[in-house]
Amino acid sequence: MTLLLLRDAQRPARQFQLSKPVIILVPALAVLSISTLVVSLQVRSSQIISRLETSLAAQNLQLEITVSDKEKAISLLQNEVMKLNDQAIDMRERIQRVNELEQQLEEFIQKYDPDSSTKEGDKNEKISWDGSGSKGGQWIAVHNREILTVGRELKDDFEEIQELLDTVEKNVPKTLERAEGARKIWEQRKQASLLQARRLELAREGKPTFWPTSDRRLTSSFGYRRDPLNGRSAYHAGIDIAGRIGDPVYAAGAGVVIAADQMSERGKYIIIKHPNGLQSWYMHLNGMNVSQGDQVTKGDLIGQLGNTGRSTGPHLHFQVVKQNIPVDPLLYVQ
Ligand SMILES: [Zn+2]
Repeated sequence: MTLLLLRDAQRPARQFQLSKPVIILVPALAVLSISTLVVSLQVRSSQIISRLETSLAAQNLQLEITVSDKEKAISLLQNEVMKLNDQAIDMRERIQRVNELEQQLEEFIQKYDPDSSTKEGDKNEKISWDGSGSKGGQWIAVHNREILTVGRELKDDFEEIQELLDTVEKNVPKTLERAEGARKIWEQRKQASLLQARRLELAREGKPTFWPTSDRRLTSSFGYRRDPLNGRSAYHAGIDIAGRIGDPVYAAGAGVVIAADQMSERGKYIIIKHPNGLQSWYMHLNGMNVSQGDQVTKGDLIGQLGNTGRSTGPHLHFQVVKQNIPVDPLLYVQ
């Protein structure tokens, strides 16, 4: 084979004579060497790629571990924040309950001591918050970035709770002081009502209702009658009860003996002063067991039935006087 090498016009053409084996060998060697180069490059690059891949995988793994750690930490943090939030809500509810208790105490005071007025400004300090009320709404997951916001809100919440606690701390001793005052007033009123009840009881006890002797037969009634001694019509200011000398004479009601004396017409007589302007008189007695100024209770033995004074025989003249006017004793004694 001949190879002709043609250059520009001024220069001669060159001619190379090549033998057949050379023609085959040289391209074959060239192809072989290029192939070898390519293969070796490929092997090297694949080695590099494999190394890179390994290192990348390791890095990925490392990254994954880090991310997972961070996620865990964030999740923990989220839980802590949510727990704190729950605590804040719980705390608010408890403070609200304390507030309610204080209000109940306030109502208690108002009940027993309505004069006790709430000091100005106190009402304004009452903060109402109904944590136990209805709740609801869409569930929204807390994202990592929102934790900060929740944290800030929590800080505000805790500050508010602190203020609430300060208010409660300030109000409760005052309220307790006033409760003590109300208790004292209530105690005084209770004493007063007990006294009133005692007075009523005394008045009831003092009403001359007890039959004043053992015999229950009347010999003369209250009002106008024919006088038993001179036969002329006369006013009888009481009732005459039959009996024998020495029969017991009882106090018809509780009271004070204002007279235990003797007079020509009344004979031996006793006057007992009862409450509400009432008096009971006992006349013609044989004997007397009480003296002026003595305190007697209903049914006490005060003397003995007799026949002293202006009398035709043993009997008890019993008389009830109301506001200095004689009234029918049968309206009282039973
Ligand atoms: Zn009489």
